Amino acid sequence: MLDVESIRKDFPMLNGKTMHDHPLIYLDNGATTLKPQAVIDAVCDYLTHYSGNAHRGDYDLSHEVDERFEDARRLIKDFINAARVEEIVFTSGSTDSLNMIAYGYGLNHLQAGDEILLTVAEHASNTLPWFDVANKVGAIVHYIDLDETGSLTLENVKKAVTEKTKIIAIAEVTNVLGYDAPMKEICNYAHEREIIVVADGAQSVPHQVTDVQASGVDFLAFSGHKMCGPTGVGIMYGKYDLLCETKPTRLGGGSNSRYNSCGVVTLKNPPYKFEAGTPNIEGVIGLGAAVEYLSKIGMDNICAHEKELRQYCIKKMQELDNVEIYNVHSDGAVAFNIKGVFSQDAASLFNTYGIAVRAGQHCAKILDEFLNVSTTLRVSFYFYNTKEEIDQFIEVCKKGDDFLD
Ligand code: PLP
Repeated sequence: MLDVESIRKDFPMLNGKTMHDHPLIYLDNGATTLKPQAVIDAVCDYLTHYSGNAHRGDYDLSHEVDERFEDARRLIKDFINAARVEEIVFTSGSTDSLNMIAYGYGLNHLQAGDEILLTVAEHASNTLPWFDVANKVGAIVHYIDLDETGSLTLENVKKAVTEKTKIIAIAEVTNVLGYDAPMKEICNYAHEREIIVVADGAQSVPHQVTDVQASGVDFLAFSGHKMCGPTGVGIMYGKYDLLCETKPTRLGGGSNSRYNSCGVVTLKNPPYKFEAGTPNIEGVIGLGAAVEYLSKIGMDNICAHEKELRQYCIKKMQELDNVEIYNVHSDGAVAFNIKGVFSQDAASLFNTYGIAVRAGQHCAKILDEFLNVSTTLRVSFYFYNTKEEIDQFIEVCKKGDDFLD
């Protein structure tokens, strides 16, 4: 069990931040999360006390940066149980990671007629790069059907896979409907057919135990800012052999061991060949601190607390006649509408009560083909949210009818 009251003290924004004179109730954790003092301190410490460059200097200050930077990589390796620290590549976020996978691996391995499988529930960042790569090589994007609830099932994966399927790129947990995909089963099935599985972990890694060796995913993308870390930093995980076969999408300082005037370039081994240019050092150090912080709380505890909050919220919402929920049984965010009220108008009403919720299409712009509704509201929890906050959210849901007067 979590001591949420004590945890909340770690977050400056949960202690004094207001919106419309109400204490902030932050229910938009799918967009980004709040930052604990430990992360803020780690970033400030780097900027204040040892802000040298990484992997470039031969003096103590630079070695100190290298050490902390690589410590963060090791922490993240353990956090997702990667087999090797070299499998952890620092990027600017999930979008960057997914682009690096699509263009660095997909573009160089797919051929005309090959098939890439997605779902209509994917975020734009796990859709648009694949559209482009498919166009460039003449591959074809197909969609795995969701079941009637919006979940991805192994059964439907099996129905969608053909002899031409080369890549399955799916969210472990989707950002609107929030269903948890059976990754291990999907990977087992895919690997028997030599299909590569790309997992978008933006909404899963922050909320549950991640074990890439157990699930077997070939690539995994996630963002620091959705797990208490800074913005502008994220991870591309890849199995080492696959990273060796993946081309970097950026070249420059730090990624090569030598080159000559004829243009012959020898790249470094992963992960460095992907990390050209000065990295987001404070971001990496902050993400390391975030991972340490989350690990101390325990991802099992975080997952259990969020599950409890979600069940509590759904139960309360189901008591309201004016609320339509689109994903009653999922594991992540709650997607809903106040009946007859445009989602952004409803979000503005929540705002006036100090409650941050998301409205719109949530960057999943073809999900309406499944939901038959163009926009939704979304509340998404994190371990610092409480049932009391949900009670206040429910009170405002009831006021949603004000728009209809
Ligand atoms: N994938 C999913 C499922 C997401 O929810 C998001 C962000 O909301 C992304 C990818 C993109 O993450 P970022 O904006 O941090 O690159």
